[in-house]
Parts: sequence; C-alpha cells; structure tokens
Amino acid sequence: MPTQQTLLYEGKGKKLFATQNPNEVIAEFKDDLTAFNAQKRSSEDGKGALNCLISSLLFELLAQQGIKSHFIKSLSSTTMLCQKVQIIPIEVVVRNIATGSLSKRLGIEDGLVLPFTLVEFYYKDDALNDPIINDEHCKILGIIDDERDLDFLRDQARKINAILRDFFDQKGLKLVDFKLEFGKNAQGEIILADEISPDSCRLWDKQTNQKLDKDRFRQDLGDLKSAYEEVLRRIQTH
Ligand code: UDP
Repeated sequence: MPTQQTLLYEGKGKKLFATQNPNEVIAEFKDDLTAFNAQKRSSEDGKGALNCLISSLLFELLAQQGIKSHFIKSLSSTTMLCQKVQIIPIEVVVRNIATGSLSKRLGIEDGLVLPFTLVEFYYKDDALNDPIINDEHCKILGIIDDERDLDFLRDQARKINAILRDFFDQKGLKLVDFKLEFGKNAQGEIILADEISPDSCRLWDKQTNQKLDKDRFRQDLGDLKSAYEEVLRRIQTH
C-alpha cells in the first residue's frame, strides 16, 4: 500500500484507505488472526491474501444473483476497491448447523442440523463483547432508522445463505454458519459489506466434517493456511 494513502480505519482484520473518490475506499486484508474478542491473537503469512481472494469471488457470485455489496473490483492480492459505507453496528449471524456460541449458550448438540435457518443479530460493540440483541433492543439503541431495515437485513441474510449454501454444497463443503455486516452507501442504500471468508464463516468438509475455517485457530487445530487454501482451491474449481 503506498505510504501517502490516508488510513481511514484499522480493524482486527482489515485496514481501510481513502481514495481520490470520496465514495470509494481501498480495503486491505491483514494477516492478523484474532478470536474471542481479540483475547487470542496470532498472525499467518498469506492469510490476508487468501481471505481477500475468497471474499472477492463470493461477492462476485452474490452480485450475479442480485445481491448488492460494497465490492467494486480487486486491486491486488490483498486489496479490493469498495464503496464507502457507514457500517450498521449489527453482526448478522446465519446458522444452518448448531455449533459455537449457539451450542454453548442453549445447550444444543454440536453439529445438529437446525430444523430451519436461524438468523440472529449481535450488537457490534467490543467493549460489551458483542451481545445478542433483538429488534426492540435495536430500536432502543437507535441502531437503525427504520424497523423495516431489520426485515431487509434478515431477508438479505436468508437470500445470501441460500446462494452460498448451494454453492459450497457443490464444492463438497457444508456452510455451517457465518457472519455478515451491512452498511449504508452514499445513496443511503443498505448493501452487504465487510468480508465473507473462512474468518467469518464456518465451513466443514461434507464427507469428513473436517473444519476448514477459523475454528482451526480458535481450537488450536493447526494447518489454518492449508485449510483456507483448500477452500479457495474448491471454490475456484468449476
Ligand atoms: N463470527 C464472526 N465474528 C464475530 C463473531 C462470530 O465472524 O465477531 C462468525 C463465526 O466465524 C461463525 C459465526 O459468526 O461463523 C457464528 O459465531 P458464534 O456466534 O458461534 O461465535 P463464536 O463461537 O465464534 O464465539
């Protein structure tokens, strides 16, 4: 990244740089790995490039199916040009199979296929540990201007799940769960933002249930990079 580029924001997984166009930013994917609200940290050379490429391919796939996102085009192995958005501080989590915090919180057996797709909202606030919230909490917190926006987020999340679940299924992968973020662009439109990568999705091999995502880091399973490379290899295979 050229040094004269103005850094607008640095998060756990990405840096955002300004461009000549006030409505566009450059997202740079970092090699840093964090889990459990950044209490666990590491780094893996090449992870940023893998996530950048996987996200670009998935944003392109979604665009072909009518899902608007902030992704404009790839710029380099670790950067993409994106629409500048005001991020809505809600993590929209979609679950097809119970695991992670859902199993822990509600005692649902790990690996149980849910009777229907579950969509949950979490308040994106590190200081509060991203608590789960409902529509009324969103209203009280003033997170959204219009209650109908929450229905729109749920609807988009379900459409995205249907597209990605089918796509991964064809690649021999189970889309267990994933997290989405949305933002408002300059036109006031709510569009998909952030990333869709093995950092934000749980992907299990269909045959073996081998974990090919950030749980390899969370659970100290090792071979994180080769797992992400395997995801990329599969989604690039026609
Ligand atoms: N997730 C994420 N960022 C977060 C929290 C969750 O990308 O800050 C993703 C996570 O990778 C998984 C899904 O959202 O695919 C559901 O995560 P869960 O609530 O089970 O949380 P965890 O077990 O990771 O604490």
